[in-house]
Amino acid sequence: MYSDSNKNQLIECIKTLSSEAIHMLLTLALRMIDVENITITICPYCGSEEIVRNGKKCGKQRFLCKSCKRTFVTTTHTILSMSHSPASIWREVVSDTLQGHAIDYTAERLGLSHPCIFGMRHKFLLALQDLIAADPVLLNQVAELDETFVLDCFKGKELSSEINRPARKHGAKAQKRGISNEYICINTGVQRNGGVVAEATNRAKPDKSELTQVYEGHLQDSCLVLCDGLKSYNVLKEIAKCSIQDIATVCKEEENFYHLNTVNNFHSFIKGRYDFYRGVATKYLNRYVTLFTLAWQQSGTILADLCSKLFTPSTTNYFYGNQGVKKERLLII
Ligand SMILES: [Zn+2]
Repeated sequence: MYSDSNKNQLIECIKTLSSEAIHMLLTLALRMIDVENITITICPYCGSEEIVRNGKKCGKQRFLCKSCKRTFVTTTHTILSMSHSPASIWREVVSDTLQGHAIDYTAERLGLSHPCIFGMRHKFLLALQDLIAADPVLLNQVAELDETFVLDCFKGKELSSEINRPARKHGAKAQKRGISNEYICINTGVQRNGGVVAEATNRAKPDKSELTQVYEGHLQDSCLVLCDGLKSYNVLKEIAKCSIQDIATVCKEEENFYHLNTVNNFHSFIKGRYDFYRGVATKYLNRYVTLFTLAWQQSGTILADLCSKLFTPSTTNYFYGNQGVKKERLLII
């Protein structure tokens, strides 16, 4: 128990501290609040509910599973594992990432370094890819499929000898007109009032194998696929019993229904985010594409849903270390 005089003494002490010391103190206080608030219900290793408290480890509550005899802490298997930052800071990073803020903005707002926020953001993006892959989007009813193109980007890296052009300045236009090899193609499929599937595969328009890679397991048999007539989309009939309609061949009266407005709307969203970031390093593009699919459909409870899934131990391991950030699921084209 504390008295009011203790509390006043603490406030007076804090006033004399440097801003760095206040930041450290705040981090510790938030961590203490986090530890109090996390509810553990299952063992992250075997899923058993037979768990008991078992002392503390590095300030975190430790648990023992009576079934598999393993011990774990409140952050095991979560994106917070091995992190110096408490859940409240992670929550801010997730929130800023969903809203499309730049890494520097978040770093300054939270008083942390750019590399620290970069690492946290990418660990979140990798976990997000796992979360979405575990519950795959199935396009059904009417789905609009199309591609959008973004300029490639080699942020933070010397251009390799294979890329035969000088580096572009931020915000500069492509050197060639039209769709050249400077562009990366993002394949996008949007169900009207439904889910979104998107993945970058290559530079040119997608061929059959690339479309199979993107849409296999994501198309319901009865789905009506609307596209712009690119022949390779016919391959989709081999991966699902869907029907395909080229919107260019419909008559004027039917254009109210046979259109690609929904998917074009998603393309505008992607372009807006991409331009705001002044490009996304191409190797990381698919991590961001996954984020865009979610951010575009953003519902009111998305932040709370993500935090509860990624911050609470479960049998799926959502933890990625710095090596994972450097090596996992890079787009190499
Ligand atoms: Zn267990």
